Amino acid sequence: MTTITLCDYHMHTPLCGDAIGEYHEYAHYAKTRGLSEIGFTGHCPQYYLPPEKRDGHCSIIEEDLSTYIEDVAKLARKLKGTLEIRTGLEVDYVPEKEGGIPPILDFFNWDYLLLSVHFIDGWAFDDPRQVKTYDKKNVETVYKDYFNILMQGMSTGYFDVVAHFDLPKKFGHRPAQPIPGEEDALRLCKDMGLVLEVNTAGLRKPVKEMYPSLELLKKAFKLGIEVCLGSDAHRPEEVAMNFASALELLKEAGYSQLVCFRNGEKCHYPVPEGYCR
Ligand SMILES: [Zn+2]
Ligand SMILES: [Zn+2]
Repeated sequence: MTTITLCDYHMHTPLCGDAIGEYHEYAHYAKTRGLSEIGFTGHCPQYYLPPEKRDGHCSIIEEDLSTYIEDVAKLARKLKGTLEIRTGLEVDYVPEKEGGIPPILDFFNWDYLLLSVHFIDGWAFDDPRQVKTYDKKNVETVYKDYFNILMQGMSTGYFDVVAHFDLPKKFGHRPAQPIPGEEDALRLCKDMGLVLEVNTAGLRKPVKEMYPSLELLKKAFKLGIEVCLGSDAHRPEEVAMNFASALELLKEAGYSQLVCFRNGEKCHYPVPEGYCR
């Protein structure tokens, strides 16, 4: 039974190609872990590739977008009164290809949109199969390029939430301090009124740390940036995983409230006390 307000706003679906489990299984774990609300955020179609190269790897293919929306709506109707369900999308931002984004945004009245950068000049820097490429790169340049692309994405005004803010750290690659572009990106996040996602998936990766780090979260709090929570679940049992730690981290950074979305508008709820599931 739900007694607190707590939302997980980042999870995938079998249509994403890189996730497993049925929608109702994600919802089951959400209820087990005491959530009041979840949001599915399938990977957007590969608008940034030529049509013949859109293979649906880590993305919903365009033809499946309606199915995705209908499936989530069906589950939402079924669980009405027990678990709120939102329909979102995790949108890859790829510079110079952004013309492909508006048709996807116009396709549906999305509850919210996550901004994600997974590619630097075509290099999927967070793909474990491409991790060796870091050896050929200067880590400072990787971060600089990453934040540069992220800021371009923020500037479009298309998005509501910045997902996994410091993703290049996923495999443990860290530049010397200060990290190039990081502070500028945080300030732009504030200026654009974007919500920063606290994403617990980093704890399940080699870096063993949430996105963003506590240090960044403290800076974000000082800047007045609002936050929401996401597990980035790619399997049902990952829903709300490590949320107790995330809530602790938020409190340590100074936060007392989180963002939820109601009819496309930002609302707030208190960081729950004593959550331990
Ligand atoms: Zn992502
Ligand atoms: Zn994701």
